[in-house]
Amino acid sequence: VPELISNFINGRAVVPQSGSYLDNPDPATGAVYSRVPDSSAGDVEAATIAAKSAFPAWSSTRREDRSRLLHTLADLIDANLDALARAESIDSGKPVSLARSVDIPRAAANFRFFADAILAPRIETYHTQPGAVQADRAVNTVLRRPRGVAGCISPWNLPLYLYSWKVAPALATGNTVVGKPSELTPMTASMLAAFAAQAGFPPGVFNVVHGRGQPAGAAIVSHPEIPTITFTGSTAVGRWIGQTAGQMLKRVSLELGGKNPYIVFADADVPAALDTAVRAAFSNQGQICLCGSRFLVERSIYNDFLAGLVARAKALRIGDPLDPQTQFGALVSCEHLQKVDSYVRLARDLGGTIHCGGSPVAPSSLPDRCRKGFFYPPTVITGLDPACHVEQEEIFGPVVTVTPFDSEDQALALANGTPYGLASTFWTRSAERIARVGAALDAGIIWANCWMLRDLRTPFGGMKQSGVGREGGEEALKFFTEASNVCVRA
Ligand code: NAD
Repeated sequence: VPELISNFINGRAVVPQSGSYLDNPDPATGAVYSRVPDSSAGDVEAATIAAKSAFPAWSSTRREDRSRLLHTLADLIDANLDALARAESIDSGKPVSLARSVDIPRAAANFRFFADAILAPRIETYHTQPGAVQADRAVNTVLRRPRGVAGCISPWNLPLYLYSWKVAPALATGNTVVGKPSELTPMTASMLAAFAAQAGFPPGVFNVVHGRGQPAGAAIVSHPEIPTITFTGSTAVGRWIGQTAGQMLKRVSLELGGKNPYIVFADADVPAALDTAVRAAFSNQGQICLCGSRFLVERSIYNDFLAGLVARAKALRIGDPLDPQTQFGALVSCEHLQKVDSYVRLARDLGGTIHCGGSPVAPSSLPDRCRKGFFYPPTVITGLDPACHVEQEEIFGPVVTVTPFDSEDQALALANGTPYGLASTFWTRSAERIARVGAALDAGIIWANCWMLRDLRTPFGGMKQSGVGREGGEEALKFFTEASNVCVRA
């Protein structure tokens, strides 16, 4: 019997008001293993009332006490690493080894980071000197207060990792939360809610409403008592959220899609670039917003690089996500697999050459348990026009293209030549080139000679159609707080 997941409102696990649930399949087997509340605006209303009434006490709780609770929650995540990693793997299809080494530890790190970050707030003061325009002296102090109820909406690809990336700074800064994880991957957020209760968070401080974007997510975005919306997901949905929240003059952070270039210059440490390339392309089956999906390689090393990438892609162990040896699991859903496959078919129609992968994994090559799962192999494509749909649109799966270039200018033009600007990676041994190219790439996150090396203090977010605003470190602390300047004549 599929497990029933609950909403978590005002400190209690509750059923959705409508009594309706959505089937939640295990992507590795295709079988429905749990059922997630199909929440409505009424559930969002109940959560918002709870969050709003918890706000005065929570926002005036001493920061040391809030910090301690966040650390306790992080301790509980660490103590339940195996259970959370297993749940994340079953829910999303990702290898349990990845969930165990990246997703879950990072969720704990998010809570610890913001628990510590609030302890030593940066105090801004400005001393006004008398001058030509005004004769008085003054001391200005910038005060920051939490904004109220924060709506946190997250996607399915890094479920607990990204959910906690929003919830942690919101709670740390004294906001209360109405959060909605993806309906495709609800399990670990549900477990997090239970741990929050166990940690001692007061009722109403942290609420989870499960369900679809419409109606549940949209009800959060358009609720008049939720002034702050942080969203990570697709550009199409982000555009609607920006419009709706903009009309209501809400504060919004939008972390959206990408079509990230991965540039390799001939003077690079090519073996290191290749080893990292296979991770950048295919980690989490290519379903990380930061994955490189357009490989741009200087012509003199192009053939060798392509051969090395294809060999490494073919060597990845595809299999049961729960097998600790598996390196490459299932895609999140059947619909997503069909979307990924449609781009590969389009690439073939456009005359592209498929060097590996190219169609769903044959069931006969999978373990018995996984024969009905949603497996699509690492796929490497060449020979496409940089302006075609496959090169311009986010596929968000294990599909990459490789294109040669002849000069730095051409590499930059290709790298910057999409509507997106989330993350760019490049490899070179030249310090001058690092400075030049690093400053010329249109992306919020730029990696030279590495990939996905994250320092939680740094701003995180995208340019162009990849988003609006930045999260992380000081940016997150500012996003979730309202500044007021108190000017005192001295
Ligand atoms: P999605 O936009 O379909 O959904 C994201 C979340 O928004 C889900 O919880 C969904 O239920 C909800 N939602 C959908 N419609 C809504 C609406 N009208 N109002 C409010 N909420 C709504 O995205 P997805 O398929 O879950 O995730 C994949 C996308 O996320 C990719 O485009 C990927 O690039 C992007 N992503 C971006 C980042 C980043 O940091 N920039 C990180 C991870 C994923």
